[in-house]
Amino acid sequence: MLSNKKFIAMLGGGQLGLMFTQIAQKKGEKVLVLDPDSDCPAGKIADKFINADYLDEEALRTIVNNCEVCTTEFENIPFKTLEILEKKIKVYPCSEALKISQNRILEKNFLKKINIPTTEYFEIKSKKELDRLSNISNWPYIIKTSTFGYDGKGQKIVSNFQELLNAYIELESKDFILEKKVNLKKEVSQVAASYGDEIFFLPISENIHINNILHKSLVPADINNEVNISIRKITEKIIKNLNYKGVICIEFFIDENETILVNEIAPRTHNSGHYSIEGCNISQFEHQVNILSNKKSEDSILISPAVMINLLGELWNEKAPDFNAIQDGNVHIHLYNKTIAKKGRKMGHVTIINDSLKSANDIADQLFKSLN
Ligand code: ADP
Ligand code: MG
Repeated sequence: MLSNKKFIAMLGGGQLGLMFTQIAQKKGEKVLVLDPDSDCPAGKIADKFINADYLDEEALRTIVNNCEVCTTEFENIPFKTLEILEKKIKVYPCSEALKISQNRILEKNFLKKINIPTTEYFEIKSKKELDRLSNISNWPYIIKTSTFGYDGKGQKIVSNFQELLNAYIELESKDFILEKKVNLKKEVSQVAASYGDEIFFLPISENIHINNILHKSLVPADINNEVNISIRKITEKIIKNLNYKGVICIEFFIDENETILVNEIAPRTHNSGHYSIEGCNISQFEHQVNILSNKKSEDSILISPAVMINLLGELWNEKAPDFNAIQDGNVHIHLYNKTIAKKGRKMGHVTIINDSLKSANDIADQLFKSLN
């Protein structure tokens, strides 16, 4: 008998869920999206949309009854949700990977345990632990809430102990991590697709942040072969130690001494991998679909240099920018159909493809200026 479980379940209906759903549908799959936000982008195109909390029992029952496999686009869903689903259906990424990557303390401790360099850091789980930091000397540091931070939210640069005390109160959380502020030469990220038996590494992207939010990704990243190989080795080690199946992104810092540090692990597709939709033969989203639908794949090759810029809510100001004026076959606009534009909210992105990375970057800068 054929299985009547005809949907792939996607936990989270944001833009990553949206682009996953678009590609899944193109490949003939049906997607069930669960999101507590009734207005979420992926919910609008899903084959089945459940508007409920991530721990809603009936919602999880519907997923188990309708899906053989489940994924996520968002690390801040309760890992308990994945633990419940894991008992009944296949879940990629697994709950353990989600648990580690949604908590900065667990994440850094995991990396330390497997000997992967990160910034110097301290755990702050109580006022007592905070007070013990009164005699550290090499400021500045960055205090970050250990959970629920994204796009730079829940973090603050602190230049002395008094500022640390103030931020500890201001950020209103229980657990924190205090990280040495790195003098960054570059930020790069590695998206990889782990099929269980095989790992494909996408071209590494170089990332430029404004106000701690990704502004632009340039691919290929301007790094030498040695750095490229080190980054792949580190990514592979993380995947193997997490026993990871699914798409993953590792964010890296390269400091002024060329030291490679892991910043974060994202157990999902990533904003810095959006370029792969047009820039690669197989995008990060297609890999996610392939993994979930148990299809074989091949390596992602860079077809052409690519630059991606994010379109944030502030560009909307009073009304949407005029995208109709852009009539260039090598400029690809993606809008996420979000109803309300807020400062810092990711409303869409643009990818520019060009034979020369420099030209793609010039076009991106010009375009961004014209939209402001
Ligand atoms: P988020 O979850 O918000 O992406 P990150 O820890 O990746 O949190 O921080 C966002 C950005 O802030 C980073 O991409 C980087 O530009 C900057 N940043 C964060 N931590 C540090 C650090 N320890 N040293 C220097 N810059 C940092
Ligand atoms: Mg980050």
